Amino acid sequence: RRALVTGGAGFIGSHLVDRLLKNGWIVRVVDNFSSGRYSNLAHHKGDSRLEILRGDLKDAETCMRAVDGVDVVFHYAANPEVRVSTTNPDIHFNENVVATFNLLEAMRKKDVRRLVFASSSSVYGEPEEIPVDEGAPIRPVSVYGASKAACEALIHAYSRLYGIKSVVLRYANVVGPRLRHGVIYDIIQKLRMNPRRLEVLGDGTQVRSYIYIADAIEATMLAFKNANDYFKVYNVGNEDWITVDEVVNIIIEVIELNNVEIVHKPIAHGVGWPGDVKRIALSIEKLKRLGFKPKMDSIESVRETARHATSEP
Ligand code: NAD
Repeated sequence: RRALVTGGAGFIGSHLVDRLLKNGWIVRVVDNFSSGRYSNLAHHKGDSRLEILRGDLKDAETCMRAVDGVDVVFHYAANPEVRVSTTNPDIHFNENVVATFNLLEAMRKKDVRRLVFASSSSVYGEPEEIPVDEGAPIRPVSVYGASKAACEALIHAYSRLYGIKSVVLRYANVVGPRLRHGVIYDIIQKLRMNPRRLEVLGDGTQVRSYIYIADAIEATMLAFKNANDYFKVYNVGNEDWITVDEVVNIIIEVIELNNVEIVHKPIAHGVGWPGDVKRIALSIEKLKRLGFKPKMDSIESVRETARHATSEP
């Protein structure tokens, strides 16, 4: 069994590579190393079952080379920084939509018939009720979320037209070792720069759920194994949710700091930036029906991630 992992040098992608190799797969990674790192895969050095292709999915030729001879594509390459689209919406259009289109075209031409796609809870935007299930309306409020929704729509059409069996996974905040973006990473970086004063984007009451990378990979493999239909969508998140202020307190506790002055920087409705969502959490009932049960809750996931991050250089 041969798999392509796009974005395989990134956070989630590299953990997926670990798991696929462990399960006996032959794995090709394609990555442009914009946020990905060789060090995330360095522990596989010398393993002939892993091939690393340096290339950009915005280039159609690279996509053709990348999908050549594989049975499954795990598509995890993207620009995952939601905030980027506030100032540079073209980045998410190109890195997410154009890249996904090129990849689908290459799959069609090279006859690759299975796809797992890393989508995001941000496709739901600002839902009226949480947790949201997979049937909730798709109403993104960031270009990032819109780009993921556009990718899902393209994948759906390709599944129907060209028989590509696809699984779309709408991840909540996935956290753990090797994570280099998002709220936990930002807060730790800020506290490293100034351990006495912390600026928190938003009023701190924004609600999110956090899933630990090991649980997210477990869910991914489970959904993939059950992908016997043309198009399936699963939420991948946790059963609880916490506020940004709770995240901040966990990190401060892990770093063992005292008397940090916390300054909130909300814009309208208490969010941190245009396109930020005030409350989001996913219903994972559909995934649970496949037998999934997260081992760590949101608090444990954030704590463990903070522990790792503070011990990483
Ligand atoms: P990441 O930045 O660590 O990984 C993305 C990888 O894709 C990086 O290695 C990067 O170098 C590569 N890449 C980006 N653009 C590329 C291009 N044009 N061509 C080739 N490679 C390219 O981020 P991550 O957190 O591991 O996210 C992986 C996927 O999961 C993304 O699609 C992201 O949108 C999605 N996702 C992540 C989360 C999360 O909480 N981490 C939540 C929801 C969805």
